[in-house]
Amino acid sequence: MLMNSSQFDPVTGLLNRNAGLQVAVRMCSSVTDEDMPLVAMWLDLDRFQQINQSFGHRGGDEVISKIAHRIRSTIKVPVELSRMGGDEFLCLFGDLDEPDAEQLAQELLRTIGEPLPVDDILFRPSVSIGIAFHVLDEAPLAWLERADRALIEAKRQGGNRIVISGDEPVPGRLGVLLAREELGIESDLHTALETGGLQLNFQPIVRLDGRIEGVEALMRCNANGRQIAPAKFIPVAEKTGLIVRLGEWCLLQGGHYAARLHREGIPAKVAINVSRAQLTSSKFIQALHGTMVCTDVAPELIELELTESLFMDVSDVVQANLRSARSIGVGLAIDDFGTGYSCLANLKDLPATKLKLDRAFVCVLPEDQRAFSVVKAMTQLARELGMTVVAEGVETQGQKDALAEAGVDAIQGYFLARPMTEDALLAWLKQRSPL
Ligand code: C2E
Ligand code: MG
Ligand code: MG
Repeated sequence: MLMNSSQFDPVTGLLNRNAGLQVAVRMCSSVTDEDMPLVAMWLDLDRFQQINQSFGHRGGDEVISKIAHRIRSTIKVPVELSRMGGDEFLCLFGDLDEPDAEQLAQELLRTIGEPLPVDDILFRPSVSIGIAFHVLDEAPLAWLERADRALIEAKRQGGNRIVISGDEPVPGRLGVLLAREELGIESDLHTALETGGLQLNFQPIVRLDGRIEGVEALMRCNANGRQIAPAKFIPVAEKTGLIVRLGEWCLLQGGHYAARLHREGIPAKVAINVSRAQLTSSKFIQALHGTMVCTDVAPELIELELTESLFMDVSDVVQANLRSARSIGVGLAIDDFGTGYSCLANLKDLPATKLKLDRAFVCVLPEDQRAFSVVKAMTQLARELGMTVVAEGVETQGQKDALAEAGVDAIQGYFLARPMTEDALLAWLKQRSPL
């Protein structure tokens, strides 16, 4: 199969998840002989979370790259190696019998477990391995799911061990179907990127004094004649790392629209949603600068929307990215506030300029008095900390009135307008505030 550069994982140089899955599909379809067993070994490092926490993102990448090297040099037989995301690796063998597979897995357990220097600490990695032997006519995803389940069982037994699939129950159809759906969405996202199927819609955010506060850019994805909801494609894009490319595209398009609104004399910021995978990359600030340069837009006209958990992220890269964005004048909004686990007291330490109250608080207004009190208290606190407060998902006049009484600055929601295309929103903005 011909591979292009987008099919390789940049950290390890191995195939990425999507390419690995495609290899599995190809291997299964070419199997004709039960005597030539295909073997899937799914590896997952134990306690990788701890490594990331102790050594940061860069240290984590360094460990992953060294482990990949160990895997590659331990396996002396033909193999297709892929990184399945995070700390997971998949090894696919076209011809390996059960005793050899077991022996090789033991060898991997030993070589991966050798002490590994990271910074000035000697770290002792360990790995869990799930093995599944392909059964003739078995669907590729069912086969891989058995390897994955064996791996989960190895973890459950305490890690640092090998479990061979066979004794555990037959995989649930649901998992297989979900995996298949995700694979479909992933391929649709690639198609959309290559065929211009991505689009930004924009939804207005209006201050309660009637002035325009800004517009939020919301991604839409069309592929093979169907539209996929963000709730479906954003998680897949995040899981597969595609979100970094999508996010860069979004920044650039959002920047162009901000410049366009500025040229039209409409003083509105453009808010762009940013995912964790983007913010944990040291290249993020480069992409942001690139947007400013390419679109010639003032940084004050761009706002980044991030969930509260990202603001709480203690990793150096995330904190540095947040600080750099703020220092050049880009606004930072806490999106969906109230749905995470942070407490109000944390707000004082965040470099945010805006707080967006989640729809969950708004949809129970005006009837729910307690929700009203919470909204009022959060609004007061955020405003005292110098943040602008926006309520999301406003659908009725009653909700708008309650929010005005609670003191919020601006609202966003179907009550004002649904997300719409660039041109439709420009017409909407012009019509409501004739120039
Ligand atoms: P979000 O950032 O909180 O965006 C607001 C969502 O609420 C949008 O859903 C919007 O269409 C919807 N909404 C707005 N007003 C109302 C209302 O009055 N009632 C109801 N029920 N819903 C309303 P959408 O477009 O489906 O996007 C969902 C989520 O997907 C977004 O939530 C955001 O987290 C994510 N997303 C969308 N575009 C992007 C993107 O370009 N990048 C990233 N990383 N995430 C994105
Ligand atoms: Mg948002
Ligand atoms: Mg939101």
